[in-house]
Order: sequence, then structure tokens, then C-alpha cells
Amino acid sequence: MNIVNTTEENIKKAAEIIKNGGLVAFPTETVYGLGADALNPVAAAGIFEAKKRPFFDPLIVHIAEISHVEKIAEKPGPKVLKLMDRFWPGPLTIVLSKKDIVPDIVTSGIPTVAVRMPVHPAALALIRAAETPIAAPSANRFGCLSPTTAEHVSSQLGDSVDMILDGGPCSIGIESTIIKIMNNRFYLLRPGGIAPEEIEDFTGEILLSEPQGEKPEAPGQLPYHYSPEKQVILTDKITRIEERSGYLFFRSPDMSYPENRSKILSANGDLREAAANLFSHLHRLDMLDIDKIYVERVEGSGLGVAIMDRLKKASMKYI
Ligand code: AMP
Ligand code: MG
Repeated sequence: MNIVNTTEENIKKAAEIIKNGGLVAFPTETVYGLGADALNPVAAAGIFEAKKRPFFDPLIVHIAEISHVEKIAEKPGPKVLKLMDRFWPGPLTIVLSKKDIVPDIVTSGIPTVAVRMPVHPAALALIRAAETPIAAPSANRFGCLSPTTAEHVSSQLGDSVDMILDGGPCSIGIESTIIKIMNNRFYLLRPGGIAPEEIEDFTGEILLSEPQGEKPEAPGQLPYHYSPEKQVILTDKITRIEERSGYLFFRSPDMSYPENRSKILSANGDLREAAANLFSHLHRLDMLDIDKIYVERVEGSGLGVAIMDRLKKASMKYI
């Protein structure tokens, strides 16, 4: 497996791979992305193949300058430009009307494209060096846990990726918040790394679902997704311990627990820390010789909305 550090030289090599239609996994602040040239349909097809992702699930396109939006999407209105100014670079994806230059395979044939400018310096350096927008979903097998370290990527995708850039663990650890603007109204398509309240301070009310008929069929919106192999059981509070089960506590428990099969999202219940630990703790627990993982619900406000979204989806697989 080809895991390398994010040196300038390796980023240059990675950019060459992208330019030549190959696949590079790279760190972002949200999760690791599996990147390909967003303007090259054959390269983008490689992403779907490597991830075993269904073609009806559109990709997010990553850019390194706000002004580059205009290469791939119709010029957004002043409200949206202000939103980009405020939250980019960062974990906010905005759905815009696409230009023809974006191949249909990237957007699964719908007339809009999801765009984000990441803040991670290695991600930005890669996009700049590749001189093209990079389409990148999370670098995991479709439906499985999202990767927040280079090792997670290599264990799920291994040889199907040409290079894995290792930038250490992701600082936010949960996917971007996705919003769409229609008729001057803001819709939340996926909760994520920026809390809806934070965006609402800026935009006014964000509606929670799109009008009927507008919604693309996308697995980020399927009832189950982001799933460990093991059965995930959600519970308000873990109060008793069983054989052959793992435990994911929200905060430090006030009871004794088996340390070798337990993880704590954040000792003091800090939602940021909990989001950053979510996928890596689930990866660890999933690797143990156990049958189930009991998971405590977290507070459903702020980043807790995105954490609960992932946990609910992880727990739906067996229902
Ligand atoms: P990820 O797998 O984290 O890269 O997220 C991709 C998700 O972004 C998809 O599953 C969709 O939910 C969403 N998405 C991408 N493009 C669009 C689009 N044009 N319109 C609405 N949602 C989109
Ligand atoms: Mg994903």
C-alpha cells in the first residue's frame, strides 16, 4: 500500500496522478477523501469503482479558491457568496446549478453540483497543484464507516488507490454540512461539521427538508449508511455490561466498564471532541471479537445533530 506523508514532493506526485486520471486519497478536516479530476469522467468513474458506490450517488467537488466556483457552477447570488465568504474554507458544502463542463457521472445526472472548499492545507495544496477541481467522496467502501486516518483508508480501499496522503487524524472527523438554496430559502440536506445553528445565525431559518420531488436519491440520505460490520444498538444511557459486547460512551461513565471493549467519545461531553472521535472509535470497536456495539445517544443540538444522524444510520442496518 502506498501511504506517504504530505510533503511538497509527495503532493506534487499526487497532483500528477490526478492529472493523469488516477485516484489519490487525501486528508481533509472532515474525513479522508478519495479524489479524482472532477472534469475527467473516466477518472471520476474510478471513484465509483473503487468504493463500490452506486452511480446514483453524486460526488462533492472540491476547489481551492472561492473564485473557482465559477468554473463549475453558475454564478451564485449575493446571499450565497456571503455564505461562502463566511464559511469557506471549511466543512460546508453548497449545492449549486452546474455548468456543462462538469461530467454527468460526477453529479449522477442531476443539474446541480455540490461544491466545497476544504481548509486542510494538504487538501488545498493538492487541488492547487492538480490545477483542476477534485471530486472526492469519503475514502471508504460504500456504506461502511468513514475514514478519519490514512490506515482506515488503506484497510478499506488498499490497492485500488494509487496513493494515500497521510496527514494524520482528521480534526473535525465528520462529513461536511450540505445545504442547498432554492428560491431564496436554505435547505439542510445533510447535517455535518458545521452546526445548523451557526449557519442560521447568518442565513436565518434553514429548512430541514427539500420540497417533494426535488430530492436526489443519495445514500447520504438513505436510512442506513456509515455502518460498522457489527450491530450498533443505540441507547440513552449504558447501564449494564454484557459478554461479547462493545460500548461507546458519550462521556466518562459513572459506573465500572470493560476498558478493552469500551470507548468514550469525550470525557466531559464536548461535542467537537465527540465528532472528531466518532468514526475512529467505531472503527476500533468494530475490529474487536464482539457481536454488538452499544452506543449512547448524544445531545441533539449543535454538532450533536450530525453525530446523531451518523449513529442513527449506523444502527439502521440491522433493523
Ligand atoms: P460524500 O459521500 O460524503 O462525499 O457525500 C456525498 C453526498 O453529497 C451525496 O450522498 C449526496 O447526499 C450529497 N450531494 C452531492 N451532490 C449533490 C447534489 N448535486 N445535490 C444534492 N446532494 C448532493
Ligand atoms: Mg461518504
